[in-house]
Amino acid sequence: MAPKITRPFCAQLGKCLHSQFGQCVAIKQPGIPAGVLQSQLSAFSSSASRNGSVADPPACLFKPLNVPHKLLMGPGPSNAYPRVLAAQSLPLLGHLQKEFHEVLDEVKAGIQYIFQTQNAWTFAVSATGMGAMETAAVNLLEIGDVALVGVNGFWGARLAEIAERNGSVAKRMVKPMGQVFTLEDIEQGLKEHKPKVVFLTYGESSGGTAQPLAGVGELCHKYGALLMVDSVAILGGAPLFMDEWNIDALYTGAQKVLSTPPSISPISFSQKARDVILGRKTKVRSFYLDAPELANYWGCDENPRRYHHTAMISSVYALREGLAEVAEKGLEKSWAQHAACAELLYEGLDKMGLELLVQDKSVRNPCVTVIKVPEGVDWKKVSDHAMDNHQVEIAGGFGELAGKVWRVGVMGYNCTPENVYKTLAVLKEGLDVHWKKN
Ligand code: PMP
Repeated sequence: MAPKITRPFCAQLGKCLHSQFGQCVAIKQPGIPAGVLQSQLSAFSSSASRNGSVADPPACLFKPLNVPHKLLMGPGPSNAYPRVLAAQSLPLLGHLQKEFHEVLDEVKAGIQYIFQTQNAWTFAVSATGMGAMETAAVNLLEIGDVALVGVNGFWGARLAEIAERNGSVAKRMVKPMGQVFTLEDIEQGLKEHKPKVVFLTYGESSGGTAQPLAGVGELCHKYGALLMVDSVAILGGAPLFMDEWNIDALYTGAQKVLSTPPSISPISFSQKARDVILGRKTKVRSFYLDAPELANYWGCDENPRRYHHTAMISSVYALREGLAEVAEKGLEKSWAQHAACAELLYEGLDKMGLELLVQDKSVRNPCVTVIKVPEGVDWKKVSDHAMDNHQVEIAGGFGELAGKVWRVGVMGYNCTPENVYKTLAVLKEGLDVHWKKN
């Protein structure tokens, strides 16, 4: 015998179906008498329950969505700007409608501004930062192509894996977390491996470094390589000049300084990178991440926009507002604010007797600070103390630094002295409870 649908849910589902079908039929077929509709609906719902093919709806969905407010002072996501969240509740537009294309054009102009580039191929990928990273990699690299990958933390290691999964060859240039690559390191790698692409992480969120980039692009070009840069955890928080620094592929994420929900990720390709992609011997192995297709949809070529996939409409609105926040503030002011808040954080941590992983201040990522956990302290107890008592997120380390560091992110909407002081106070309170000094 077919299992029965349990009563309370069945009743609710029935109500819902009645109201939806009622509305729909009333609009489309005003001539149908109410009695006919009722009997159609009961035949439909009783046949669904009779053959047992419809499982019960989950009870949890009948409760209101409950999301507590937390202060996200980890390496991301940051709390979103209120106007960004508001933008996501605006009406949907069709992804092929002209009003929506205007929004795409505004987003594109905003990305050109935050990247300081004139590149025609500038758009956003329907994916989080990792998706943008993968987009850059799979478009620039074909099977057997060599990438020289700077690994001084999690993200270089991740890119090397992406390249290898793409059938390309990753030559790892390794440094301990907390250290950066010199021009000499990079030149040596270029000479030795003759790569097609060099990958560096500008703002490391696992090791807390800001990789110096001035001069790297020229060097790569001298050896016939393209420069690909990850700016997910630093964009908007420190100077970045894509064109001036000769970066060929640059991407970022939405959920850090742009303080937009993780979803859609800005990316840009230089003319050189574009030529390399258009001159590929083989098609890009991922259709979804195919840059020429995406560029066309974003109106970056002279052809009419073609459907590629349904754009993330609400996420595009949100990104537009995140970009507008940075544009209204101005990049220079945004960089200065992040530097000033980072300085406040360093001073406070120093007063508490805490040490930073990155010794050389000039190569610290101002957006994500990596703090060494003192001997005898359980990082998690301190981190949990912050969350349980104050709803403040202080993250731990990952990779080889798991258990050894905390990571504090001060980015975008959260980049205020008040938030820095609050985080310091919460950290101090946790340490007072959990750090038994001799
Ligand atoms: N690169 C860096 C430097 C990051 O910090 C992150 C996210 N923490 C990513 C890439 C990947 O971004 P996402 O998690 O949004 O996919």
